[in-house]
Amino acid sequence: MKRSEPEKERMQATEALVAEEDAACADVVHDAVAGEPGIVRVDFEPEDEQLTLAYDPRQMDGQDVLRVAQEMGPTLQQRWATCTMRVGRQGGRACEACALALEDRLRQIPGVRRAAVSYLGGALSVTYDDTLLSPEALQTEMRHLGVRGRPTEAAVRRPPAVGEAPGILARLRATITEERLELAFTVITLLAMIAGFAGEKVGAPAAFSAGAYVVAYVAGGTFGLRAGIESLRQYAIDVDLLMILAAVGAAVVGAPFEGAMLLFLFSLSNVLQTYALDRTRTAIRSLMALRPEEALVRRGDELVTLPAGEIDVGDRVIVRPGERIPLDGVVVEGESSVDQASITGESIPVAKGPGNDVLAGTINQKGGLEISVTRLAKDSTIARLIQLVEEAHSEKARTQRFIDTAEQYYAMGVIVMTALAIVVPITLLGEPFADAFYRAMTLMVAASPCALVISTPATVLSAIANGARRGVLFKGGVYVEQAAAIKVVAFDKTGTLTAGRPEVTDVIPLNGASEEEVLIQAAAVEAKSEHPLAEAIVEAARARDLAWPDATAFQSKTGSGVSAQVNGSTIAVGNRRFYREAGADGLDGASAAVDALYGEGKTTVVVARANGADESGYRVMGVIGIADVLRANTRDVVQALKERGVERVVMLTGDNRRVAATIAEEAGVDAFHAELLPEDKVRILKEEADRYGPVAMVGDGVNDAPALATATIGIAMGAAGTDVALETADIVLMADDLGQIPYVIGLSRKTRRTLWQNLVFAVGVIGVLIAAVLGVGLALPLSVIGHEGSTVLVSLNGLRLLAYGE
Ligand code: ADP
Ligand code: MG
Repeated sequence: MKRSEPEKERMQATEALVAEEDAACADVVHDAVAGEPGIVRVDFEPEDEQLTLAYDPRQMDGQDVLRVAQEMGPTLQQRWATCTMRVGRQGGRACEACALALEDRLRQIPGVRRAAVSYLGGALSVTYDDTLLSPEALQTEMRHLGVRGRPTEAAVRRPPAVGEAPGILARLRATITEERLELAFTVITLLAMIAGFAGEKVGAPAAFSAGAYVVAYVAGGTFGLRAGIESLRQYAIDVDLLMILAAVGAAVVGAPFEGAMLLFLFSLSNVLQTYALDRTRTAIRSLMALRPEEALVRRGDELVTLPAGEIDVGDRVIVRPGERIPLDGVVVEGESSVDQASITGESIPVAKGPGNDVLAGTINQKGGLEISVTRLAKDSTIARLIQLVEEAHSEKARTQRFIDTAEQYYAMGVIVMTALAIVVPITLLGEPFADAFYRAMTLMVAASPCALVISTPATVLSAIANGARRGVLFKGGVYVEQAAAIKVVAFDKTGTLTAGRPEVTDVIPLNGASEEEVLIQAAAVEAKSEHPLAEAIVEAARARDLAWPDATAFQSKTGSGVSAQVNGSTIAVGNRRFYREAGADGLDGASAAVDALYGEGKTTVVVARANGADESGYRVMGVIGIADVLRANTRDVVQALKERGVERVVMLTGDNRRVAATIAEEAGVDAFHAELLPEDKVRILKEEADRYGPVAMVGDGVNDAPALATATIGIAMGAAGTDVALETADIVLMADDLGQIPYVIGLSRKTRRTLWQNLVFAVGVIGVLIAAVLGVGLALPLSVIGHEGSTVLVSLNGLRLLAYGE
């Protein structure tokens, strides 16, 4: 009776998921827990991507649960696709309250899990269930909601067919952009306003001035009115509407010149604001410009030039010196150096020869290269990068979310206040209508929150753009803000604090094996692994011109070691814990050699062959010592982090305690934790966060994904070309350069400071203007200048971040 309880509850949990129209998701969950009687409950929270598993501790332990979760994660993730589009503001000022409303409506489409929209950032991204929605269906749904999106810049462009000249209409359409039109309208507003004013002064017929003001109102108000109506349809009130109302109000009380001036300044500040935000998008555009559109492909004996979009995986592409590499691939012939600065921000060219990976958009410098294509143009690292930067533009910082939500109530408040400012003086004080109305309009302009609304995105988008130029990808404004609050930085040791390339220094054969045999067997297994240690071992075998057989049934026990079938027997490469867990204690012969290498601070692995097929025991073949030298700038980086306000720097490693102690001492970190399994790293990060505050975890993203996900902020380093790292981390450093971490912290702290400056300034200006209107009867034009001026100033102050670190 008791035993069936969990089973029942599990079924209910699964059914509950189905009921939520989450059929596809429930399938995955169901499949994954089907063979796991210990799992009693599964909760999945798509919004913050949290998967909660409740389990029966009598039937399984934490390790098993972690395994189940790890099995489920990628499957769940695969079912989701993210669609990123560019969206423009609909005339007038970008309405972020409308973006919020749109998010809500997008989320109601069945199958949509997450939606982020920012008109100021110019991007929209929707994460949806691949099995419930197709990109086409999603596009249709969006059209119904009135979303006018354009494809992301990452989409592969189709070059115009030969001989097909663009029509005159198309060319005209390309020239007359929304931005240019708005600028033209702004100029017309100014001229008409001056004409109207001059007409009044020189005593021209009243009709002349009236006509001029009408022109000024139409030219200056069209965009704002369109935006205001658009917002109303989204059930949002925005500043555009307030401005139009104020201008109309001014005309009503016989101050058309002031109304026209209001519209002119409003349009002008919109134009400036658009220009400013556009600057933050240049990072994407310059990335775009890097992608060659065509490539020289070997087809049989011939060389043909094809558009990049038509080239398949496995095609051979020729890249001549001085050319850009058109697609991601691996070098098959030729030697050269490649300038990767465009993607990684690293200025020193990297040597490339057969077997090395190359990335689309980087520049081949010296020799000719022939590469075998490994990714389609649309999947290339640079295309992913562009898409992720665009996605980042749709992800708002927390401050901005708060302001966008508050804006609605605030705008409502402004309208109420304006109404009171009209009604109260007239009824209670007997003031003439025109005076009260004029003052109310002035007050409304003074109180409008334009500067507040623009201050955060202008700042955060500039920071994101600054990062993108240096090969640092912030996945959204939230992470810029969070990085500023980091108290603890935790580094993974292998491949992060230590140089990317550990080297085999000792091969000690034991029990009658030869040095070469040890290396051959180890290399056969490690050829299947992605671990930096594995690469070192394979590299050592290659350097000695050894050939190794193909291994099968490869298994990896993260943080302990690996095993596989080589020529019919099981070969393992791992640390002592690996063998202890595999039930082999007979490592006595190896222990002395291992201890000696540990003493020298070397990472050490034991190579052994299983006795018989049951793998019940292992016979040691030898020990391999690997020197994992610290990166040259580690000490400086730790120092620089401290100077930027990080309180504690720690090192986490799965390696042996003695090795860890040596490396930690050299690196100058505050503390280290050794002999950790991936789940231990997760636990330690939580403890650090509880005791000291927000933690940033820096890793390579290959075998520390759980830790990257647990930390307040996960930073993956050296991610160019590795998909996992690009996906899991919150901040991605394309280059393999530790020096970027202090830059990230510095930039985000500076961003936070700028955010505050802008907020305080914007609120201050509003306060002063309101006081001036009520106290000394500030004139409408001055109120307009103060209001629009502060909007432009906060934008410019935010833009300064584009130049940070130069
Ligand atoms: P770190 O936390 O320093 O990045 P890992 O958790 O990746 O280290 O690995 C910890 C230890 O596990 C290594 O020091 C090594 O002893 C063992 N190990 C992990 N992967 C392998 C492998 N592919 N081959 C041999 N040993 C491995
Ligand atoms: Mg590691």
